[in-house]
Amino acid sequence: MNLKFNRRGFLRFAGGGALGLATSGASLRGLSELNAALAAEEINVPRGPETWALSVCSLCPGACGLRVRKIGNRAVKIIGNPLHPVNRGGLCPRGVAGLQVLYHPDRLHTPQKNIASRAAPRWKEISWDEAIQTVSERLRMLGNHQRAHAAVFVGGHSGHLRQRLFRRFLDALGSPNYLRAPDGLDSSQFAAFLQQGVPSGLAYDFEAARYLLSFGINLLEGWGAPVGIMRAFGHWRDAAAGRRTKFVQIEPRLSITAARADEWVACRTGTEAALALGIAYVLITEGLYDARFVSEHTFGFEDWRDAGGRSHLGFRSLVLGEYRVNQVAALTQVPAETILRLGREFGRNRPALAIGGSASSTLPGDPYTAMAVHSLNALVGSVDRPGGMLVRPVLPGDQELEPASGKRATPNTIVGDGRLLPWLDLTRLPDAIRDAKPYPVEVLFIHGTDPAFSLPNGEDFAQALERVPFVVSFSSFWDETSAHADLVLPDHTDLEKWQEAGPPPSFPTPVMSLSPPVVTPLHQTRDTADVLLDIAHALGGPVAERLPYRTFEEFLREHVKQVFAAQAGYTFTTSLEETWNRLLARSGWWAPSYANDEQLWEQMKEQGGWWEPTYYYEEWDRVLRTPSRRFEFFSQSLARWVVQHREETKAMGLDPDDDRLCLPHQPPLPEASQEFPLLLIPVEVLPLAGSSGGHLPYMQQIAGSHLFEHWQSWLEMNPRTAAALGLTDREQVWIESRRGRIQARLRFYEGVRPGVVHLPLGYGQRQGSIWARRGVNPLSLLESKWGPPMGSLQAMPTYVRVYRS
Ligand code: SF4
Repeated sequence: MNLKFNRRGFLRFAGGGALGLATSGASLRGLSELNAALAAEEINVPRGPETWALSVCSLCPGACGLRVRKIGNRAVKIIGNPLHPVNRGGLCPRGVAGLQVLYHPDRLHTPQKNIASRAAPRWKEISWDEAIQTVSERLRMLGNHQRAHAAVFVGGHSGHLRQRLFRRFLDALGSPNYLRAPDGLDSSQFAAFLQQGVPSGLAYDFEAARYLLSFGINLLEGWGAPVGIMRAFGHWRDAAAGRRTKFVQIEPRLSITAARADEWVACRTGTEAALALGIAYVLITEGLYDARFVSEHTFGFEDWRDAGGRSHLGFRSLVLGEYRVNQVAALTQVPAETILRLGREFGRNRPALAIGGSASSTLPGDPYTAMAVHSLNALVGSVDRPGGMLVRPVLPGDQELEPASGKRATPNTIVGDGRLLPWLDLTRLPDAIRDAKPYPVEVLFIHGTDPAFSLPNGEDFAQALERVPFVVSFSSFWDETSAHADLVLPDHTDLEKWQEAGPPPSFPTPVMSLSPPVVTPLHQTRDTADVLLDIAHALGGPVAERLPYRTFEEFLREHVKQVFAAQAGYTFTTSLEETWNRLLARSGWWAPSYANDEQLWEQMKEQGGWWEPTYYYEEWDRVLRTPSRRFEFFSQSLARWVVQHREETKAMGLDPDDDRLCLPHQPPLPEASQEFPLLLIPVEVLPLAGSSGGHLPYMQQIAGSHLFEHWQSWLEMNPRTAAALGLTDREQVWIESRRGRIQARLRFYEGVRPGVVHLPLGYGQRQGSIWARRGVNPLSLLESKWGPPMGSLQAMPTYVRVYRS
């Protein structure tokens, strides 16, 4: 495609945004609103002694370490912790906005109880004693009727050890139903599960990669561990390193990530899998793949016969037969010469790394696309090697959480009906509740996520809540989900509680961040972990026995003992000491700065945590746990699942005898109609990444700075598309799909393909803070489908029409 707008133009445009913010009237739009929104505590710095404390940011899964400046008991400034291995002192704008979370005027101050109906709730403040008694009585009743399994915990984004405590709480009750909110990395992790047999811990060695192909990943806009990725990006550009990593971004829209890449390849929307397989074609036909790795460590590259003598299609035959460069060029609209060049560059610049398969940090993408991308890594031997695709070793004590490879969770889970997924998927919960199958949900706990807002089937989720007799939300703010609860038990914000975090997504080695509360809680809120411990003690019996800790701090201390017992890793140090520790590790030495778990605990509090800086490559038994103990181009666990679910496979419109079901391939593309001719694709912007942050004025102010848009949703459209529709820049338009219609401000953007429109995610809450209730939620328009083979609900690019309102 020939887009007239180039990346240089975009950078000038975006750079002008920052300058313009200070000089032009148009760009100042929203600043007065921002000033009016700031809480007095945030602006007025009191007198008193100055101190600094450590904490951990939990505004996204990035888990950056923080240093907080205090005047008296007032937190007044947040910067990055330079010792933290994930962010090394860096911080994104969301992290800075942590103060706004603390001082936010719309925070919930005390527990709330709905004393009327769900349809027309009336909220009454209650004491914590009453709240804990109410929940305990409910759970006791369930236990007395042998129905403890009917309790469900929906966990979202929260600390690693908090999640472990929540799971243990549920397990102690007798329920297997710990469900987690979907994550943008799910499709990649699922592909790693199918092709490598690892259910968690997919990671990437970004800094050591020499060539990076990103298939639509919003690498610099909220994906994975944002500050960690930005550090790697800085490393690629660091001339002192003696070489420069080439970063190629493949996606239809000129995003901020595409604009900052070395090369932007604008492919047709949804054809990333075909393009990856076209590049595989070049690697294979030109002999640029790692033949040794493929022969020694992969399965299904060549055609093969099963034990029954049936022959099966191999990856090589599939690619050579169906993904020739000219065929791929026609489908993807990427010139054949570009595909050839990308294949040659990827094959010749080792270590080369490919990433792809997700739509945003909360919406998983297509798993077959992720398989195609992973296959590229396998072809060039970038599996468990420097600069390649890695598998993070588990944290000490994590073995109790990880299901054995290929093994499903207990069969009586509320959503565990033979799915292949190695985790319990939240998108299936609304159907399970509505059908009361395999049994009714009687108590539902929700923490760290707002599924009624952020799930592709959020509306179904909200309706399903009406059927659950007792719903408890632990949200610090009103949101779409807590508005449907019976009890809302407000959690502390980050700076008011013990903070801990495990390694962020895609980070290659174990990390445990830890820090005590920075300030005394401002309101009558409580740490949810402490609340659950109180409930456990009120219940007594085996539940109390499994959770014998008086406070979450005691639980953390217990975990630090396990870390010490592992006899590995170091407390956070400077980069120089880290290099030295790595050198020692390579010589078989371990020289920690602590002699017992008590010293480890104290050092972790002082420095921010513990981590294992050394990754041990080529541990094939750990990273290749498939039935063949090899990287499987042809997934045998998927083949087994298809054999066991033939009828279900047919019901999805698929042929269970087609080998392509177990191989990476290009999924069918949605089709336009005369009625709905434009393809709507939601986009993620860093300030509102994870579909959260809309309640923070700072985030609202900077969300759409590439188009000078603030405080409201905008619809991006190519001016040529707009001209054909007779629409003008900045006017209000309706966007309508088969599911409904919403209104937004039209913005011309040359970086959008003709025939495609984009709406940002994270806008359009209907409950909660006045700042969150702005704009529109694109998920309300998107169609979704149960994606084979993952079995979870996927939000799909959806055809819409746009007209003047
Ligand atoms: S990247 Fe995530 S964890 Fe790090 S500062 Fe930003 S919001 Fe916080």
